[in-house]
Amino acid sequence: MWLSVGVVVGLAALLGAVLGWATVRFRVQADPMVERIDRLLPQTQCAQCGYPGCRPYAEAIARGDADINQCPPGGDAGVRALAELLGREAKPVNPENGSIKPPVVALIVEEDCIGCTKCIQACPVDAIIGAPKRMHTVVPELCTGCELCLPPCPVDCIELVAPTPRASEYRWPRPAPAQSRSTV
Ligand code: SF4
Ligand code: SF4
Ligand code: SF4
Repeated sequence: MWLSVGVVVGLAALLGAVLGWATVRFRVQADPMVERIDRLLPQTQCAQCGYPGCRPYAEAIARGDADINQCPPGGDAGVRALAELLGREAKPVNPENGSIKPPVVALIVEEDCIGCTKCIQACPVDAIIGAPKRMHTVVPELCTGCELCLPPCPVDCIELVAPTPRASEYRWPRPAPAQSRSTV
């Protein structure tokens, strides 16, 4: 019996050593420029840029395959930041990629939800919670407003609404109102 245990332990140690060597030997170094570009993107993962997410778009920019003005959620400010990073000229967001809209979050009309889970599968940032045949709901703090959950919903019960201020965004005490000029 002890012989069997020894063989198993020995094999496990050997396998661990091989995996450790392979990890070091075949590690893919992250491209620092891709990282820097990706950090400037809004991480909405909406795919309006023509790529399946912000990271693939960052990789395409770094390769020279994509222009810097293909991200409507980033807006003109995002293009300017990319232009500054890459030493390029800023330009307006390409309207072919979509229009710049005010921020929104998804809201599920819960009494209409049939619990089909299709929205959960579509959400790229895991902002929807729910279970099969149970009501679903959106966690607004996680929702990026990418709209990807709307088309799959078979009963059309997901709406886009303006985000409400988060607790950390309330200012207290409130700034004093501007003094009205005396008319005396
Ligand atoms: S359009 Fe912008 S936010 Fe949307 S996936 Fe592309 S880079 Fe990300
Ligand atoms: S809940 Fe909908 S709109 Fe919000 S991030 Fe997920 S898929 Fe996008
Ligand atoms: S796709 Fe629509 S009906 Fe299905 S779980 Fe999501 S909100 Fe409910």
